[in-house]
Amino acid sequence: MQKRILIVEDESSIRDMVAFALRKADMEPMLAADAREAQLAVATTVPDLILLDWMLPGMSGLELARRLRKEALTAEVPIIMLTARGEEMDRVSGLEAGVDDYVVKPFSTRELIARIKAVLRRSHGDDGSGILELGGLKIDGPAHRVHAGTDTVPIGPTEYRLLHFFMTHAERVYSRAQLLDHVWGGSVYVEERTVDVHIRRLRQTLQPWQLDGLIQTVRGAGYRFSATA
Ligand code: CA
Repeated sequence: MQKRILIVEDESSIRDMVAFALRKADMEPMLAADAREAQLAVATTVPDLILLDWMLPGMSGLELARRLRKEALTAEVPIIMLTARGEEMDRVSGLEAGVDDYVVKPFSTRELIARIKAVLRRSHGDDGSGILELGGLKIDGPAHRVHAGTDTVPIGPTEYRLLHFFMTHAERVYSRAQLLDHVWGGSVYVEERTVDVHIRRLRQTLQPWQLDGLIQTVRGAGYRFSATA
């Protein structure tokens, strides 16, 4: 699945350069020129990572980072701050605001992409092998298999995609619309009810191993995969 990266940057030349590099790296850029545009963008689609310019017109990148951390939807989305030299002294306040990494301008897009990939790997607990273990389940991306202990779990293709998305985005709540967007893809027209059907099937799939409780219903909000309960 393509990673969605939100670029919040007021300089259009940098925005375009980064967007171009992201597409080349098989990632999908989302663009915002200031904090307001960024907040509108995340309200529609939660990105996998946010690139945030420190110096923005209006609300600063730092203040936006603080606010994104407080919102349930974006609390866990990793943030890489783009700073100019001289702003480096402020790293401490950035770390306090929950920023994951820094890239100092001027940067090479090659360096930026490498940092993005490193942060994504860290935040998703993916060691690069495509195998992820969480809450008693193991999902093997390359083999397209799911294991519970030594058993292989028979799972349908949609339930597999749903589970894969949940396990790589654990402990976060997603609305039905967001799940449709991430798991089914934005271009496909599917009713939100469909999500409930596949959630039910996914729970039934996991039930023989008493792991159906990993998929939690959050009233009025959506669904969450949680291994901490
Ligand atoms: Ca700027």
